Amino acid sequence: MSHVFPRHCHAQLPTAVGGEGVWLIDSEGRRYLDGSGGAAVSCLGHGDRQVTEAVKAQLDKLAFAHTGFLTSEPAEALADLLIAHAPGDLDRVYFVSGGSEATEAAIKLARQYWVEKGQPQRSRLIARRQSYHGNTIGALSAGGNEWRRQQFGPLLLDVSHIDPCYEYRDRQEGETPQEYGIRAAEALREEIERVGPETVMAFIAEPVVGATAGALAPAPGYYQRIREICDEYGILLILDEVMCGMGRTGSLFACEQDGVNPDILCIAKGLGAGYQPIGAMLCSAAVYDAIAQGSGFFQHGHTYIGHPVATAAGLAVVSAILDRDLLSRIRQKGEVLQTALEARFGQHPNVGDIRGRGLFRGIEIVADRDSKAPFDPDRKIAARLKKAAFAKGLICYPMSGTIDGQHGDHVLLAPPFIITDEEIAILVDCLDAAMQEVLGAAEA
Ligand code: PLP
Repeated sequence: MSHVFPRHCHAQLPTAVGGEGVWLIDSEGRRYLDGSGGAAVSCLGHGDRQVTEAVKAQLDKLAFAHTGFLTSEPAEALADLLIAHAPGDLDRVYFVSGGSEATEAAIKLARQYWVEKGQPQRSRLIARRQSYHGNTIGALSAGGNEWRRQQFGPLLLDVSHIDPCYEYRDRQEGETPQEYGIRAAEALREEIERVGPETVMAFIAEPVVGATAGALAPAPGYYQRIREICDEYGILLILDEVMCGMGRTGSLFACEQDGVNPDILCIAKGLGAGYQPIGAMLCSAAVYDAIAQGSGFFQHGHTYIGHPVATAAGLAVVSAILDRDLLSRIRQKGEVLQTALEARFGQHPNVGDIRGRGLFRGIEIVADRDSKAPFDPDRKIAARLKKAAFAKGLICYPMSGTIDGQHGDHVLLAPPFIITDEEIAILVDCLDAAMQEVLGAAEA
């Protein structure tokens, strides 16, 4: 019997023992194509020598030094590299151990910013429905994914949720994508006015929504208008790029493609590429200065912030993305993947939308293409797709969106950036076989 506490108590999971490129290998020798890179984590694939060597070298040199006392060489170098490429005036990096820690830190920083500015009444966070910002209770309170939240209410924060920018479902007949983008963004203004501008500290959103909506990119102009609204009311903009950042969508930071500069930005997952647990929160000079010139102390911290080995891994990963010109490769292979998905599933009666950017792609599954009606959640389409794909040697990330009755199940694909055309073809074949098995049965 296993003594590991699994997420699904009754699941019989194979034991992973090895990884090579885009493949994972279990203890029986079975190989699985890692079509979602875990959950958009393994961006360089498995067994990248440059990263493993960097981790080993750092372990030999200095495994740990508490950042309450010291900083470290890899933490300094990684912060410099991130800031050199970061959008806007992001100026400081706070290293943590994962995505939830990054969003928690961002929310606390936004709160402390207003306290330092003498406006403690600004305690409300506005977020979006169908979003996910992490599983710790503060991050969960920010997220708008009912399935994850429902057992834990009442949650902690003063949070309200607006609709996401969801062109496939919400753009009206006769409305251009730009017009829709502006209309969707204006929901933020309405919510600010409804709750009282003087009570709002920040707005948080994922530039390209990952797990909860299947690589949902914003309509043109959406984030520019969001930025304008935040500026008009003096509200901080927090962008959560935990899943879509670090090159995944074809630019190092996803928000670059939308021409928007956040006040606070969260990254994780691909930053360590699975070689070490690491996340980070980047903030603007103005936000940092409010703390530095106020109490001078960010009231936050965890034992492993700025861990030398984790930051050494992050440094090797970001250097690899830049030095190997993986950003062009992501854009190119992303088009190959999108084209292959459209060719195979574009006419499928249960495929409503195929979308995304770079190597971050989603397929929305619906019961009916014309009405866009989702499947009944009891049919557990996403879970069955995941199981069928797994049995065929493909790991992907199907999620059920039907819990709130608002959108369909979806499959999220986020393969390692090193994936080849041949491996993309295998991925699509396996997914096709899984779709035939599950959707054939579901429609019968
Ligand atoms: N934010 C987003 C957008 C995520 O997708 C996730 C994880 O999936 C998180 C935050 C939480 O990250 P972690 O699981 O590393 O705590």
